[in-house]
Amino acid sequence: MSKLYIIGTPIGNLEDITLRALRILKDVDFVLCEDTRVTRVLLNKYEIKTPTISYFQHSGLAKVNQIIDLLKQGKNLALVSDAGTPGISDPGNKLIELVLKELPDLKIEPIPGPCAAIAALSISGLPTDKFVFYGFLPHKKGKEKILKEIIGNKFTSVFYESTHRILKTLEKLKDLGIGDKQMVVCRELTKKFETVYRGNIDEILTELENDTIKGEFVVVIS
Ligand code: SAM
Repeated sequence: MSKLYIIGTPIGNLEDITLRALRILKDVDFVLCEDTRVTRVLLNKYEIKTPTISYFQHSGLAKVNQIIDLLKQGKNLALVSDAGTPGISDPGNKLIELVLKELPDLKIEPIPGPCAAIAALSISGLPTDKFVFYGFLPHKKGKEKILKEIIGNKFTSVFYESTHRILKTLEKLKDLGIGDKQMVVCRELTKKFETVYRGNIDEILTELENDTIKGEFVVVIS
């Protein structure tokens, strides 16, 4: 009986991968990758020679059918994304939904690993007993509504943001009246230029405006 493993991989530091993830990546017949070139860097580091197949957000039905055929032939597959946990603002969920329609008894196993949102929450010092994860915010339509929701949220809010939009998004939060809420903005977690900004919106904006704001961001708001 074949298996599909959903494997968490590093969000920057290539040492952040579990022993079990490495064993399974070695043992499966194919690794399904969001970008085979990105995953090859990880596989090369650990001398893993397993062949890769590309599977990304907009892979068509033909690719899904190819994956289903492999599972029907008894092959074991591992799904990884470029970074972190597949299915968390990354491809994965749709594939699982489609695969289960064809193979409802397929064993799908999680191999837990890093997730940028959870890493940010873990160092935030903000309440984590209840939190709302927003993934990436919409770029235009609906963004203001969600930012207002975040400001009014009684639970901790977490979202992902890119270099290009981080300042604009924070400025918008200020304009919409976020006031003195405590925030933690995490940049490049686990990487060389990891930076954690803590404070209210004014303090964080001042720090960010004086910094080189390149990289990937997670924003956590009290
Ligand atoms: N599946 C991933 C996870 O489990 O975290 C998330 C993938 S999503 C396409 C990529 C976004 O996650 C980035 O734009 C950034 O907001 C956040 N992210 C990923 N790695 C990060 C890191 N090392 N530091 C800060 N944010 C990161």
